[in-house]
Amino acid sequence: MSRVIDHLADLTGFRDRDVLDVSLVGALMDLLRADEVGIHRVVGEGEQRCWLTRACMKRGDTAARADPLWAEPGSLPLLEALPDRLACLRGEEAFELPGPPAVAYFPMATEWQAVGVLEIISAEPLTAEDLRLVSSILRIYRNFQGLLDYSERDTLTGLLNRKTFDDSFLRVAAAGAPPGDDAAPDTELRRPESGGTMWLAVVDIDHFKRVNDNFGHLIGDEVLLLLSRLMRSSFRFHDHLYRFGGEEFVVLMRCVDTGAALTALERLRRNVSGYCFPQVEHITVSIGVTALRAGDSPSSAFERADKALYHVKQNGRDQVADHGELVAAGRLAESTRDGSVELF
Ligand code: GH3
Ligand code: MG
Ligand code: MG
Repeated sequence: MSRVIDHLADLTGFRDRDVLDVSLVGALMDLLRADEVGIHRVVGEGEQRCWLTRACMKRGDTAARADPLWAEPGSLPLLEALPDRLACLRGEEAFELPGPPAVAYFPMATEWQAVGVLEIISAEPLTAEDLRLVSSILRIYRNFQGLLDYSERDTLTGLLNRKTFDDSFLRVAAAGAPPGDDAAPDTELRRPESGGTMWLAVVDIDHFKRVNDNFGHLIGDEVLLLLSRLMRSSFRFHDHLYRFGGEEFVVLMRCVDTGAALTALERLRRNVSGYCFPQVEHITVSIGVTALRAGDSPSSAFERADKALYHVKQNGRDQVADHGELVAAGRLAESTRDGSVELF
């Protein structure tokens, strides 16, 4: 009993989801006579949904293994490729295949939906007591995730909030850079694939005040919610999407070059301008983007993207502009004194 309590204390001792998943897998390896424990999440959209392993440990392993944070969807197994996991996810119910080896599946859910599966492989089927223990630990895990969501996410759109951006910027930015001291020593969770740069984009709805003035605040809120859905479907699962407050959103994404970053943002711009919003019908967004630089703080990177956004607002809206390209074209001046930028 005290071992269980110790594990629960460890589990809820961190506010980092990566560490939480690794701790859960480690705790279950210790508490059950399992050969392997894994947490597998559903990522991606529609037909392309696949399994991303968040943490997995085999008997004898000293550390958990995980798929890279920036795994390409094509490198991960599609949902249908693992039908037992899929059955657990769809049925939202735990079950065990007697084996050997025995494999137990437990759905992992948020308040709204099943988001993944916990898989436990063992020589012998789990006892009734084991099954109860895992279910109870998963309930605590889910409650804790709910608390994390509450503090990290915007209540209207469910996107990450501004505080989370400030808190996690350095960690997310480091994950897109070559491996360094910041890589977690005991897991592979933060070890990125090679190549690619981090980009920060600021997305602002054009003339949103008019939406509120003409249709009311509630319809305005609905536009914000629908826009957040368009954002989710326009970017890859591992890109980070934030609502900064009001009608301003931030995207932190990893792209191989400027062309790829601009293509992704252009896709969002087009998806928004082509979408028919209830009553309001059509809105547009302006987008400023910048490549992250070594030594960037959340505010220095944001400021460059915001300058590019301001440039778009001054030049017809409904466009995407890259800070670097504007500077290179002589349309923005960069102050070397403090790294900030001034408009001509
Ligand atoms: P611009 O094209 O220059 O960005 O013009 P704008 O009207 O979008 O920008 P402005 O900053 O003048 O107005 C933003 C408006 O966003 C003002 C406020 O009424 C509205 N707003 C801010 N937060 C919320 C919210 O949570 N819900 C709703 N419905 N409206 C909001
Ligand atoms: Mg606006
Ligand atoms: Mg604004």
